[in-house]
Amino acid sequence: MIERTLSIIKPHAVKKNIIGKIFTRIEHIGFKIIGSKMIRLSQTQAIGFYIEHKEKLFFQNIIQSITLGPVMIFVLEKENAIQHFRDLIGATNPEHALPGTIRADYANNMTENAIHGSDSTMSAIREIDYFFQESEIFPHCY
Ligand code: ATP
Ligand code: MG
Repeated sequence: MIERTLSIIKPHAVKKNIIGKIFTRIEHIGFKIIGSKMIRLSQTQAIGFYIEHKEKLFFQNIIQSITLGPVMIFVLEKENAIQHFRDLIGATNPEHALPGTIRADYANNMTENAIHGSDSTMSAIREIDYFFQESEIFPHCY
C-alpha cells in the first residue's frame, strides 16, 4: 500500500549542511518527496509535536535540541513508507543503528540523532496534519 510518512532533519544536521546528502539517499531508494518546508519550531510547536513524551526525563532536552535552529520538514510517499523509512534512518540510539543507516552516519548522540520518522500510521497522519495543509502536499503521479 502506498503510504505517507513525515520526516524532520533536525537542527544539528541542518547545521552540518547535509540536507542534500540525506535527500539523495531518500530519493535513491524510491521515496518521493511530496512536500517540504524549512522552519524554526517555536517552543509551543515542539512541545505539541513531542507531546507523547511529555512525562519523560529527556523531554526538556528534545525540546531544546529541536528548537535550536531551523529544521527541514518533509512528507514522503512510497509503498510501505512508514516502516521502510524507519529502517532507513536506523535505531533511536545511534550506537545501535545499523551501518549504512542515516543515524549511524550522521547522528551525534541520542538527542542529536539527525532525523525523525513517523513510527506508525496514526503518528504519520497526525504529524503530517500538524505541519502541512493538504494544498502544500503534491502526490506523485505514477
Ligand atoms: P523520533 O521520534 O525523533 O523519530 P524515535 O521515534 O526513534 O525518534 P522516540 O522514542 O520517539 O524515538 O523519542 C523521540 C526523541 O527523543 C528521539 O529521537 C531522541 O532524540 C530522544 N530520546 C528518546 N529516548 C531517549 C533517551 N532515553 N534519552 C535521551 N533522549 C531520548
Ligand atoms: Mg518517535
